[in-house]
Amino acid sequence: MVRRPGSKTRLRAYLLAHAGEVLDSDTLRAVAESSEWARRLRELRDEEGMEILSHNDRAGMKPGQYVLASLNLQPAFARGMSKETRALVLDRNGFTCQMCGAAAGEPHPYDEGKKTRLHIGHIIDKSQGGTDDPGNLRAICSVCNEGAANITLVRPDAAKLLAQIRRAPGTDQVVVLDWLMRKYGDEAKRRLEAM
Ligand SMILES: [Zn+2]
Repeated sequence: MVRRPGSKTRLRAYLLAHAGEVLDSDTLRAVAESSEWARRLRELRDEEGMEILSHNDRAGMKPGQYVLASLNLQPAFARGMSKETRALVLDRNGFTCQMCGAAAGEPHPYDEGKKTRLHIGHIIDKSQGGTDDPGNLRAICSVCNEGAANITLVRPDAAKLLAQIRRAPGTDQVVVLDWLMRKYGDEAKRRLEAM
């Protein structure tokens, strides 16, 4: 008896045959013939490195739409990386993209329709001799990772930041204050007491 290919195998083959096409969840569920189709899709993305993008990664896509963006697989290191290394890098970077400053899970500043999803990238590219050592890793959002924010964003210095904040509306300044309080609450308390 010939065993039918499993739902992951069917999904993989279908995605490869339809690379670049936007596919909806009904199609993928039908291909997988399984209610677990979304989990299988995640495995193909996270474990096999297929570049499967959703509305969280690409402007103009709706929830429930997916596209295999390229036939290239993501570098093996991202898949082989331990949960601990990933958590260490994300924590060190404050769960914030180190290129554009977008925070994980929040709407992306350059595309409000997208939730920011963080990946781990190299600081010095492997082709330039960079290593997989945690010291050479940083959090980077899918927008920057995809090169959508292709202007190289120079990290602003304190003077530039303050100038920006000063001319922002008060309501936005309070958003900055809230964020700083969440991050530096204890430090703020100490400084207030010393004043
Ligand atoms: Zn980014």
